[in-house]
Amino acid sequence: MNSFLSKAGLLAAAALVASILSAPQASADTLAKNLFGAAQLPAATAPKSFGFYSKGCFSGGMAIATDGPTWQAMRLSRNRRWGHPTMIRLIEKLSHDAVADGWPGLLLGDISQPRGGPMLTGHASHQIGLDADIWLTPMPDRRLSAAERENMSATSMIRKGGLTVDERLWTPAHMRLLKRAASYPEVERILVHPGIKKKLCETVSGDRSWLHKIRPFWGHDYHFHVRIGCQPGSTACKRQEATPKSDGCDKSLAWWFTEEPWRPATGPQKPKARDVMTMASLPKECRAVLEAPAPVSEAAVTIGGMGTAVAVAPAAPAKQTIEVIIGNNPIAASAFAPTPASRIPLPFPRPAN
Ligand SMILES: [Zn+2]
Repeated sequence: MNSFLSKAGLLAAAALVASILSAPQASADTLAKNLFGAAQLPAATAPKSFGFYSKGCFSGGMAIATDGPTWQAMRLSRNRRWGHPTMIRLIEKLSHDAVADGWPGLLLGDISQPRGGPMLTGHASHQIGLDADIWLTPMPDRRLSAAERENMSATSMIRKGGLTVDERLWTPAHMRLLKRAASYPEVERILVHPGIKKKLCETVSGDRSWLHKIRPFWGHDYHFHVRIGCQPGSTACKRQEATPKSDGCDKSLAWWFTEEPWRPATGPQKPKARDVMTMASLPKECRAVLEAPAPVSEAAVTIGGMGTAVAVAPAAPAKQTIEVIIGNNPIAASAFAPTPASRIPLPFPRPAN
């Protein structure tokens, strides 16, 4: 038998073809979402954001554990629990503070992909590890199964077919949660549905200084979006224009209650930016971010949450089954439970070498 046709040779050839098919090469015109969407672990180099929220990537990412005493992460299969370490620590802090304020705990939506970049589905932003979505649905007082975390839907705070909040759902605790999130100096803006902004404008008394960070935007009726600023050391991170100093309860808000922002687009549909964004359109550093080594494991760069919680998120990109093993002693968070006192030491990304 010709040695080229030996079984081993065929297997090797098949493996080569498979690896070419599964690992798209990073040429300048490769769609960036395919490369960044395939990354399973972060770049184990110094934490840095490159580019802008809607066009960039980041290194030195950390993950938030699937479970903490005061949070549960949703949609685990997406592998979007990653962010700049400052963002991840801030989410953890917010979850503790929110529970102390009387919120039952956070349900976490998407943060970023392990190395950021454009995503295969959803979100124009969330690319540099500085954006996070948090559900406006309170955390239930039990641990959700992996299946529930995939399928459970959040509740819109906005009246069906309307532009104002559903008074049956909106509570002062929602307001306190947003106020707490806005209170951190790192947080530059929080995106909410205009109806939620309107409700805050009408009901917040006393200190209204935080309202300028609450920005009306499309979507964001079942979750709010927290955006922090470029972090020290990220010299290639592009800042967003500062929010106006005023509370924003003015003409700019009134515009959202006109027809104009809701008019369907006319003319030919433009493709979404993420569907045409190539490596050439991202900051040049993003190529190095893609090529950088990964940390030894996901656990090494995960904020541990409950300490005993272990998330098994294997590297298989599709059809992965995610097992969530909860500690023996989960703390049932409720509006009346005290803030858990324990602070778990945070692992840091491995230093660059
Ligand atoms: Zn978002």
